[in-house]
Amino acid sequence: MFFLSFFENVHNLLFGLSAICFLGFSVWFASGLKIAKGLNELCAAFLMFFCIALFYNQYMFFITNGVSYPVLIFLRLFFMIVATILLLEAASEILLLKELPMVVLFLCASIGLVISMYAVFVADSAYIEQNIALIGPLIGFIYLFLSFISQAGCNKSNGAVLASLCVLGFIEQIAFNLFFDLNFSFLFTLILIFMLAAAIFMMTADWLLHEKNMMRDSLKKISDDLENIVKSSPFPIVISRLKNDTIVFANQNAMKIFDMNASELSRYHFSDFFVDTENRKLLLERLEHNRQVQDFEILIKTMVSSTPFWMMASANVIEYKNEPVLYMAFQDITNRKEREKTLQNQADRDPLTGIYNRRYFEQKMPEKIQQAHIKQQPFAVLMLDADHFKSINDEYGHKTGDKVLIEMAQIVERSLRVDDIVARFGGEEFVVFLNNVTEDVAVMVANRLREAVGNLVVYSDDGRPVTWTVSIGVAPSKVSAHADLMIKMADDAMYEAKKEGRNRVEKYDKEKNEFRNMQAPARQSVHPVLETKDSDEISLLDGIDLSNLRKE
Ligand code: GH3
Ligand code: MG
Ligand code: MG
Repeated sequence: MFFLSFFENVHNLLFGLSAICFLGFSVWFASGLKIAKGLNELCAAFLMFFCIALFYNQYMFFITNGVSYPVLIFLRLFFMIVATILLLEAASEILLLKELPMVVLFLCASIGLVISMYAVFVADSAYIEQNIALIGPLIGFIYLFLSFISQAGCNKSNGAVLASLCVLGFIEQIAFNLFFDLNFSFLFTLILIFMLAAAIFMMTADWLLHEKNMMRDSLKKISDDLENIVKSSPFPIVISRLKNDTIVFANQNAMKIFDMNASELSRYHFSDFFVDTENRKLLLERLEHNRQVQDFEILIKTMVSSTPFWMMASANVIEYKNEPVLYMAFQDITNRKEREKTLQNQADRDPLTGIYNRRYFEQKMPEKIQQAHIKQQPFAVLMLDADHFKSINDEYGHKTGDKVLIEMAQIVERSLRVDDIVARFGGEEFVVFLNNVTEDVAVMVANRLREAVGNLVVYSDDGRPVTWTVSIGVAPSKVSAHADLMIKMADDAMYEAKKEGRNRVEKYDKEKNEFRNMQAPARQSVHPVLETKDSDEISLLDGIDLSNLRKE
């Protein structure tokens, strides 16, 4: 009978115990499996069979201690029913992944109990008792076999196939016992239990392998998805090595914007794209203090396009492919920069003449004075005021007056160098800052300007030619180095020129505290700015560095 021959000797007892322990270990190892609960119940059923066999072997001990034989038989059948129910539970968990319904459990237990009581106390037949003790487990093992077979079919698990074969072995053993009254050797049962444990190990290994593959697949999927997100990001993204600035990654947008060739990425150094290569150093310095830098504005150039453009970068130092890299995401801010420039121009420039306004001049002049001091260069401020301008307006109209102002502004601006500043100070007054000029040269330049304005002609709406003159006051730097004071002195000098008859240049003289007439001989026929080369007169720009002369 199943398990009966176990305990013929102590060795068998120990072998049986170790087989059950091995089974228990395999089940514990399989705790991650979905069918783990079923395997636990299977192990419990085997433990129960083991205990029943032990109990059956100790009949004599109980009888000598006064327990009646029918009670012992009944107890044995009762435990057999419990073991069978555990088998059914296990099979149900393995096959359906859920417990047996309570009704079925209750029904099995009741039927088993009634039959056992009938067999022991009513029929009192050893043959019936023996059959009941075998039929119960047989049903349980058949259900278990079906469960493992379905597992083998669904999961293509070799472990489940082996487990089915083991269970088939138990079925065969019981069936032979039941129909042919043939007992298998203890060794056969032992081998089957060890094989079942091995099958459970195999199932666990299959599951671990499956889990590993699933994890690898899902990791691959996550990394593909992430790469896709970064590659198709609407923001250009560039990753460059910290140690040598070579590019390790650029997404599609970055390659497009920076005109990079995908196959030659590693040949580029990212700072090659910076108009000012010092920008990279500055960025790294900032990154030393904060791990992240936001809104870093960089003027970018590419190998293909000659026009630089503005980008705003956010940068991080991260670890990429086992090395520290600079991760940068960009946003094109060229339009914003252009808008800012336009707005700045609008704020700095006079709308009628297009030259700088008074606000800009007053803001810039202290800076210019400081630079001149550092370089130890002299400078001068000129104040220009159109003579009798009101009568031009009155006689020819405001539109013509405007034309006069525009022409005057243009001739003055064109006549000076990039470093000088020309601004409309208000109404028909213009102010000039002359860089690096001695006072004599300043007076000379003022006279050339005066002549140039005197030679201008504009035409009124009705076609009449309009000419006019200008009075100029000069404040050289030796008089004062204070911006406001110099403007005031140039203004005073200009009013002195007005007083002295207009169309004149007056210099403010601090020491003598009086004005010296510096009017130069008139020159009517030749344009003083553009045609001085042919003239034997002193050039408007004589003594001034011509290299930076503003181009028209
Ligand atoms: P003076 O020789 O003493 O400088 O006489 P003036 O007529 O030039 O000086 P005044 O200050 O008496 O007149 C300046 C005039 O400039 C008055 C004003 O209407 C005119 N004006 C100021 N701004 C503009 C402008 O933007 N366009 C025009 N057409 N005229 C302007
Ligand atoms: Mg005026
Ligand atoms: Mg005037």
